[in-house]
Amino acid sequence: MRQLSRLKFRVYGRVQGVGYRPFVYREALRLNLKGFVKNTNNYVEIEVEGEQVNIDLFARRLLSDAPIEAHIDRLESVSLTQKNHEVFEILSSTGEGGPFGEIGPDIAACHSCLEETLDPNNRRYRYALNSCAHCGPRYSIIDCLPFDRSNTSMRDFSLCPACEREYCDPENRRFHAQTISCHACGPKLSFLDQNGGLLAEDQSVLMQAADALRRGAIIAIKGVGGFQLCVDARSDAAVHELRRRKQRRSKPFAVMFGELSRVKEVCFLSKQEEKILNSPARPIVLLKLKSQKLSGALAPDLAWLGVMLPAMPLHYLLLKELGFPIVATSANISDQPMIADENLAFSQLNGIADYFLIHDREIIWPIDDSVVRVVYDRALMLRHARGYAPAYVKVSDLTAGILGAGGYLKNTISYSYNHVLFHGPHIGDLATPEARRRHDQQIDRLTRQQEIGLILAGDMHPDVMAATCVQAEASVAGVQHHVAHIVSCLVDNGLVPPVLGVAWDGAGVGDDGRLWGGEFLKISKGAWRRVGHMRGFSLPGGALAFKEPRRAAIGLLFEIYGDSLFSMSEFLPLAEFSALEKMTLQQMLKKDIQINHTTSVGRIFDAFAALLGVCQRASYEGQAAAMLESLAQDAPAPKAYACKLEKSFGDMLVVDWEPVLRHVLIDWESGCLVNDIAAGIHIALADAVVSVASALQETRVALSGGCFQNAYLTQAVVASLQQNGFEPFWHQNIPPNDGGLAVGQAVWTSWRR
Ligand code: ZN
Ligand code: ZN
Ligand code: FE
Repeated sequence: MRQLSRLKFRVYGRVQGVGYRPFVYREALRLNLKGFVKNTNNYVEIEVEGEQVNIDLFARRLLSDAPIEAHIDRLESVSLTQKNHEVFEILSSTGEGGPFGEIGPDIAACHSCLEETLDPNNRRYRYALNSCAHCGPRYSIIDCLPFDRSNTSMRDFSLCPACEREYCDPENRRFHAQTISCHACGPKLSFLDQNGGLLAEDQSVLMQAADALRRGAIIAIKGVGGFQLCVDARSDAAVHELRRRKQRRSKPFAVMFGELSRVKEVCFLSKQEEKILNSPARPIVLLKLKSQKLSGALAPDLAWLGVMLPAMPLHYLLLKELGFPIVATSANISDQPMIADENLAFSQLNGIADYFLIHDREIIWPIDDSVVRVVYDRALMLRHARGYAPAYVKVSDLTAGILGAGGYLKNTISYSYNHVLFHGPHIGDLATPEARRRHDQQIDRLTRQQEIGLILAGDMHPDVMAATCVQAEASVAGVQHHVAHIVSCLVDNGLVPPVLGVAWDGAGVGDDGRLWGGEFLKISKGAWRRVGHMRGFSLPGGALAFKEPRRAAIGLLFEIYGDSLFSMSEFLPLAEFSALEKMTLQQMLKKDIQINHTTSVGRIFDAFAALLGVCQRASYEGQAAAMLESLAQDAPAPKAYACKLEKSFGDMLVVDWEPVLRHVLIDWESGCLVNDIAAGIHIALADAVVSVASALQETRVALSGGCFQNAYLTQAVVASLQQNGFEPFWHQNIPPNDGGLAVGQAVWTSWRR
């Protein structure tokens, strides 16, 4: 008998739902190897038997030639005795292996699938839910691994004979594609009126939807991860009507384009931005506006527009039919999570949507669109969702079983396995019971099958902790908000401490009980120290102060002028209050009632925006800062301002913004261009980071917190640090805003152990 080698492989990582088994099958056949491949709960198992040289080659190809969407973490192999397999086959999945396996994100329709839907001679011509072994929904339709049709919402659709043939044909690109379907056997489209009454099915749906959009109607479209509200992006009337019905005054809407060439007519587009826009994740990318060809009501007072390309053939076909871009904004009401279910859509969007375009494939895990912008030719994640989430981040020295519960705003969760940290998708603000339910469901899904004890890592703030950490049986660890921010930045950059962390955001509670947000922290592995902060000020009016930049301005001015402020008349924000309100404010500040003492840079941006008359009351979080950044981006000659660096108690460094404030007031008074003033403020803050880093002689500086969503600020800080010989680190795959907190919480808690 011929001497053959026999080897067993286990492949770990993102290897399910990416066409890995079909790939293994073809390689084995090519190299004349016998044996099998199968999915288990958390790895792909392969057994091959044949000539040793061929097995060696096979082992190399498992890594080097894997499908593009696969990420292989680890390949284990073991030799076995000869068995004389007669064939190579794909076996049914088995329930072996641990509970942890990587569920891939949803992948946009690939080029081949799109071509089919546009080819009149193809049997999938105009098939809106086309996908193959390499593309299509994953996370949003999976109950659990292994990635088999029976574990996805495609289980409701049995294969027609033609699809069955493709599924079984090793030469077909849908060989063993779990989401395979077609007009005959797959999910179908319907078009319904505002009451859910059926208007059309299948082929005429897209035509009718296009007609309605052309007439200015608002359509709720069920996409990959949930419903979106869509209108003609060129029409002021339609966009205003959507704003009126959604009660969304000025928060920007994203726009979906059918083709890149049309994007270029409206926005500037760098090579990197084009690449990200077109990537399989298909995120919303914030692009600098070039012309006002579309409605001016899309992103009022902002220099950029959120743009995306379609992820699903459904949208491609619709946009092709239309020939113009559409608004595509998450369908939800009053800060609740995005709607992903028809019945909920009919009830909640009644009075908002004129029509519904739906398909009958269930969305098991709703997921929003991701939002990304490019800073220094690199992606900066703003919302970690469809196409990117869940992410599995490699972290060394990680304790298993820690759950990062995230923050109150822009909540995401994380969970540590050995060496890998799961980072889940954007859930949103936990202000509503619906959002909290989604948060709890995700925690439950992750921890359900775990046998190890659970450690909950949440925000130190008792209210945030109470809202995010509900598992009674777990032990709980509180992590300071800004420490979590900086650690998330370290993880994002694969960096280990020590480092100087610059954590600038809206607010998080500090260990002195005050609202921090302009912090310089020295971080080592498992210990941290506050080494500097912005000069503090009083923020009058409790929660209102976070929505009204004019209040932050009063706080800043009061810090300088004290009580005499109220007898001065030259400041814009003061004029925004009635005489009675001013009296109340004065009493509040004098007697320290309803006052937050804060060092928040987010609020400092608010204050400057109000002082310059840019924004007195914000209608969405971060609006004032976004408007100020928009002005700065178009500054012909930025003003030169500088903060003062002082030392207070002990060695604590304090960055004093007073000199900047005084100069800004003079320049504004003398009619300087507001763009130049806004840019000057950004640059002064950036230079302050360099001053602190120099004073502390820290080379490595990590930048995190919501303020570093600001591209102008981030670029200014990075440039300033680099020019002065420092090594700056900023975010890329994990959001710098509170969407990244969960990662920092889990890793920090692990380091502490
Ligand atoms: Zn495809
Ligand atoms: Zn079919
Ligand atoms: Fe924060």
